[in-house]
Amino acid sequence: MRLLCPICGERDRREFTYRGAAVAQPAPEASAAEWHAYVHLRDNPAGPLEEWWHHQQGCGAWVKLRRDTTTHQMLDPLAGQTPATTAGRT
Ligand SMILES: [Zn+2]
Repeated sequence: MRLLCPICGERDRREFTYRGAAVAQPAPEASAAEWHAYVHLRDNPAGPLEEWWHHQQGCGAWVKLRRDTTTHQMLDPLAGQTPATTAGRT
């Protein structure tokens, strides 16, 4: 599988560390149940999923990508984003 780093370009998946689904963080004053769901519960969908990947063996960037979990095909491969470009979004 190849992933697109917005800084380095297309790289082998083994250079990246999977950091989980890109889900919205609750507000600091959210209930314990909302924080529990955020930290421990995941939908695990079969199909498109937005995820965070860390280019650990490369430039160190955090990249948000959209992947089909059934085929591992990268969707919108040119949409690789770093946290700086997604500030204020999920
Ligand atoms: Zn990189």
